[in-house]
Amino acid sequence: MLIALNEKNEPVRADSAPIGAQYCCPACKGKVILKKGELKISHFSHWRNQLCSKRTESETEEHLRGKLDLMRWAHKRLGETKLEYYIPAIRQRTDLLIVHNNYWFAIEFQCSPLPVASVQSRTEGYISIGLPVVWISGNKLKLSRKPTALHCALMNETGSGELYFLHYDQSSCQLMVYHSFHSLKGYFSFSSRYIHFGSEVDATSVKQVEIQSYVLQAPSVAKNRLKQLYRFKLHQDSRYRQFFELLYTSRLSLESMPEALLHPVAREWMIRTVPQEWKLLLLKWIVALPEKQILTQKLIDRQRVQWTESGKIDFYCFPNVSSSALNRPLIDFLKLLAALSVLDSLGEGKWRVNRKCRTIRMLSKTNECIITDF
Ligand SMILES: [Zn+2]
Repeated sequence: MLIALNEKNEPVRADSAPIGAQYCCPACKGKVILKKGELKISHFSHWRNQLCSKRTESETEEHLRGKLDLMRWAHKRLGETKLEYYIPAIRQRTDLLIVHNNYWFAIEFQCSPLPVASVQSRTEGYISIGLPVVWISGNKLKLSRKPTALHCALMNETGSGELYFLHYDQSSCQLMVYHSFHSLKGYFSFSSRYIHFGSEVDATSVKQVEIQSYVLQAPSVAKNRLKQLYRFKLHQDSRYRQFFELLYTSRLSLESMPEALLHPVAREWMIRTVPQEWKLLLLKWIVALPEKQILTQKLIDRQRVQWTESGKIDFYCFPNVSSSALNRPLIDFLKLLAALSVLDSLGEGKWRVNRKCRTIRMLSKTNECIITDF
């Protein structure tokens, strides 16, 4: 860590702290020693292995230097910035605490892999005191392909509900912003831009990808997905076992299932459950709704929580993301259904089931069969 308390209980930074004095940790009050070496930048470390030391002792050069870079940048561009600020109420030390336009938020610069549950509990700690947190990843957690469970846990959300992922490359002093994640064309992609901390004006290079989450796919994507499903069935792929069971108990087959299941939607990467499975669940739920029921975001939200709690739909863990953003993949699918005339869009996040549509008629028929069979 870069900050410790001196004998007068004042916070001091390692690079300006005199050698030979006594220092203690702001969190556990345990003794820390000042290390001024030539290899690593000046920092403090705990005298012996104390409970709180777990997070700080293995601190890398990347983490120490990165925090200082981010602090300088935030101080210049955003406002008052405190380094390694300890919050007793939640017993957490933020890497940075920033005040921007009277708005406080914490920065966590995460350089080494850690369990998703730890990201979740730290995020929930901040949320419990109303302090927003922004996660920034270091080089070991760089995003290069489809996000892992840990990447998902480190996702942040903009005011308008879009997800973004930050990565700080300490060696080149570049902050990368990844955004517009989507799995539309059968593969995963995203856009990125970078902010260079060295330059006066933030140099940005934006590669914008236009996305319409509900745009119908070229037939080849749906066809490829169907071919894939036949392969999965043939090889009894364990990931798809539940889907095929659901298909079977719904009295459907790969030939007769609704076409909508084959179209990818933009944010389906947020869900671990195979897409056809949760889409079929959602469709069956829609069909079983009372005829005059209007589908609202609130209703979807309630149902999503139920599905998540019962383990029927397995979302990746996004502790730093609101529930309306978690609804997005489901909403994407509803928009697709509206484009396929399965739903009538009533505007402003409201839909009604189109009972005349073939898919709905077919599904309600198979539903009835199942009921009369018992
Ligand atoms: Zn400590």
